[in-house]
Amino acid sequence: MNLSDIRLPPNLLPSDGRFGCGPSKIRAEQMQSVMRQSETLLGTSHRQEPVRHLVGSIRDGLRELFGLPPGWEIVLGNGGATLFWDVATFGLIRQKSQHLVFGEFSSKFAIAAKSAPHLLDPQIIESEFGDHPVAVSGLDIDSYCFTHNETSTGVAMEVRRPVGSGDALVVVDATSAAGGLWWEPSEVDVYYFSPQKCFASEGGLWVAACSPRAIVRIEELRKSGRWCPATLDLGIAFDNSRANQTLNTPSITTLLLLDEQIKWMLSKGGMRWCLERTKTSSEFLYKWAESQTFSQPFVDDPAKRSPVVGTIDLVGVEASIINEVLRRHGIVDTESYRKLNRNQLRIAMFPSIEPHDIEQLTRCIDFIVERIMP
Ligand SMILES: *Cc1c(COP(=O)(O)O)cnc(C)c1O
Repeated sequence: MNLSDIRLPPNLLPSDGRFGCGPSKIRAEQMQSVMRQSETLLGTSHRQEPVRHLVGSIRDGLRELFGLPPGWEIVLGNGGATLFWDVATFGLIRQKSQHLVFGEFSSKFAIAAKSAPHLLDPQIIESEFGDHPVAVSGLDIDSYCFTHNETSTGVAMEVRRPVGSGDALVVVDATSAAGGLWWEPSEVDVYYFSPQKCFASEGGLWVAACSPRAIVRIEELRKSGRWCPATLDLGIAFDNSRANQTLNTPSITTLLLLDEQIKWMLSKGGMRWCLERTKTSSEFLYKWAESQTFSQPFVDDPAKRSPVVGTIDLVGVEASIINEVLRRHGIVDTESYRKLNRNQLRIAMFPSIEPHDIEQLTRCIDFIVERIMP
């Protein structure tokens, strides 16, 4: 069968074909909001009131969305979550960190800590991909580093402060989790993310919710005399964020898209609504994958299956063929994480993605498989 002969019937197509895990679907309403504010905000100074008001709105909105207790602060800066790992090696980790490594992103933070000449070698606890390890408290550990949702494998973990961790910080990479998974501020000190996943904005920005305990640590390290480049200096980022600014020029479009998404989430009912939505999408996807002979969820333990990033292993059909046919129909970025090297589909189910579109996507896959199954 010639692949180009496979034509998906229009009634099976999703209303939007973007299923990538970041950059991810940006809603049309967000773009309209950018257009509406294009002449008053775009191309204007980020040091003046209008853009500072926008940054303030993002900080207030996130505090409300996450239900942050008094004393917590939202800090932001340019560079994304990857840059924040370096920020953390200067401004959060005192001497020794512990890292749970269970995929590409968690391993990169561990490498950043290991490479920092001013830190002791981190303790790394690994598990097989498709699972996640458990933290073990240690007297010498001052920062416990978790990944709420491993975007490379589709494994989600509950974030809990390790028993016996004393005044150590719990530092959570929430890049694909924030806005789609539940977390308790009492269990976390730093919850950081980039906004191009659940928050449907563009890359290049990092945002961190910081507990009072984290703020004390930042102040402590700031006074420690440790050298730190200004772009990675959390203390400087703090001062700027408190003034609703960033150290250097931000992308105002990114801020506008983020602000619009936070407002949309709040208007729909906040985190509770977001969780319902990602649950609806993911329960459907995993049930479908279990019911088909050619597919199964990659993550064995249902409790660890991510509600926002679905990884589906295929048996007897080539994921690459399915992806090719989908892409020809404008359904994109269903490829598995490149370094995982599996015959797998990976499907984002962020709050912006319509649960009905997840159903439609599975119908498209069924349609293709029926035609290529030997
Ligand atoms: C996407 C992602 C990152 C990297 O984000 P960048 O904005 O590209 O730096 C880090 N951690 C997790 C869990 C991610 O999903």
